[in-house]
Amino acid sequence: MPAVAWFRRDLRLGDNPALGAAAAVDGTVVPLFVVDPALWEPAGDVRRAYLVDSLRSLDDSLDGKLLLQHGDPVTHVVNVARAADATQVHIAADYGPYGARRDEAVREALAAHGIELVTTGSPYAVAPGRVTKDDGTAYRVYTPFYRAWLRHGWRPPAADVEADYVMPVDCHGYPERPDLPFELPAAGEQAALERWAAFRAKRLKAYDDTRNLPAVDGTSVMGHHLKWGEIHPRTILADLGDSEAEDVYRKEIAWREFYADVLHQRPDSARVSLDARFDDDFPWDSGKDADRMFEAWATGRTGYPFVDAGMRQLLAEGWMHNRVRMVVASFLVKDLHLPWQRGAAHFMRWLRDGDLASNSHGWQWTAGCGTDASPYYRVFNPVGQGEKFDPTGDYVRRYVPELAHLPGKTAHTPWDVLGGYDHGYPERIVDHAAERQEALDRFAAMKAARA
Ligand SMILES: Cc1cc2nc3c(=O)[nH]c(=O)nc-3n(C[C@H](O)[C@H](O)[C@H](O)COP(=O)(O)OP(=O)(O)OC[C@H]3O[C@@H](n4cnc5c(N)ncnc54)[C@H](O)[C@@H]3O)c2cc1C
Repeated sequence: MPAVAWFRRDLRLGDNPALGAAAAVDGTVVPLFVVDPALWEPAGDVRRAYLVDSLRSLDDSLDGKLLLQHGDPVTHVVNVARAADATQVHIAADYGPYGARRDEAVREALAAHGIELVTTGSPYAVAPGRVTKDDGTAYRVYTPFYRAWLRHGWRPPAADVEADYVMPVDCHGYPERPDLPFELPAAGEQAALERWAAFRAKRLKAYDDTRNLPAVDGTSVMGHHLKWGEIHPRTILADLGDSEAEDVYRKEIAWREFYADVLHQRPDSARVSLDARFDDDFPWDSGKDADRMFEAWATGRTGYPFVDAGMRQLLAEGWMHNRVRMVVASFLVKDLHLPWQRGAAHFMRWLRDGDLASNSHGWQWTAGCGTDASPYYRVFNPVGQGEKFDPTGDYVRRYVPELAHLPGKTAHTPWDVLGGYDHGYPERIVDHAAERQEALDRFAAMKAARA
């Protein structure tokens, strides 16, 4: 009797314990993916296109046996399991707010037909909720979480799976892939393993030195592969040794695990500030002027070169370097006085690695309202950050052609250069020093209101 392996955020065959558990039933597996409108509709074109590419790759690895169904998972998972005469459906746990609710609904619907939903593993090295303080409560600060996460440890990668794959009902086919104005990187398990191997061979040893320099190919760009589970973080962790650079990389993987843990504790924190004062009391800007400011930010026309380069990289590639994500997020919240949720929604629409936990909490960290937040009064200087982390100006010139004529670091300060605006680069929409002070004043007023 076959078992169903229901793929969601684990689009790979290797190091996949849930698939292994399905194959262990009798060696015959129905590999199922349900294109769920509740996730597909809000995903945005970039993530939709990437998902189609990733599904094609998974289907190829299964010799065309990936069973695609479109619609409500409650209906389709039950239908497929019944058609296959399966008594078990196997999944890796989903700890996102929607995924956890969906799985409970599917579990109940399956149980009504005597079919079991079996959960094995998760998209994390250590499942959210497992790492706790001695008193059983969750960590709210990253560094102690990291130490406890290391102490907890994780399993080695799972063994390869041998199975016969079958399709008991008609396949609905791939969802339509949206056209994008740019190419996405290759998707799928093979691409993930190759990218990881290339990063390990060439760039990992210098990661601690180069990871903050957006003009340099210094980070792994594994986010989209991890997001869709084309590689498991455990596979990555198993390859890391004890050098300084490997340690720093392990800590970045741990941020992903920490934010998943925080979202698991507080599912509403995907949309609401962990520090409720920022939603209830903070005087955010709104109205037509605020919309105009948002538009300038989103299209990379703020007049601050480092910010604009980042926002244009996002629109040009569906990706932005981490250092620049922090700077543009700080700019939206503290220079433009707009709520982090607006920026987070824009990121989710455009980032190919858009992930609810890492995105919402990356934003909350920068905005100063999250767990382990950077203090609100830490306001990134968009010019100073550019000069420090893009000292040659190469990053700015790459994404902002109106500044391509400015040599070296002068690309960060067109206002100081004769002819700086000759090619149509916009003037600064706000004065950073004045808006920084305004942000601090509003913060002080918010604190005083609750005192
Ligand atoms: C405002 C903001 C929004 C963000 N939104 C997302 C998002 O939607 N999805 C996402 O995966 N990351 C997000 N991040 C975190 C980080 O920017 C990206 O993970 C990283 O830039 C991805 O590039 P990389 O794979 O080359 O990273 P590397 O530096 O090579 O890091 C390796 C992996 O570690 C994880 N990681 C690294 N830094 C972080 C971090 N700060 N938080 C969580 N995980 C991390 C990622 O899985 C990443 O792929 C956000 C950060 C900020 C400040």
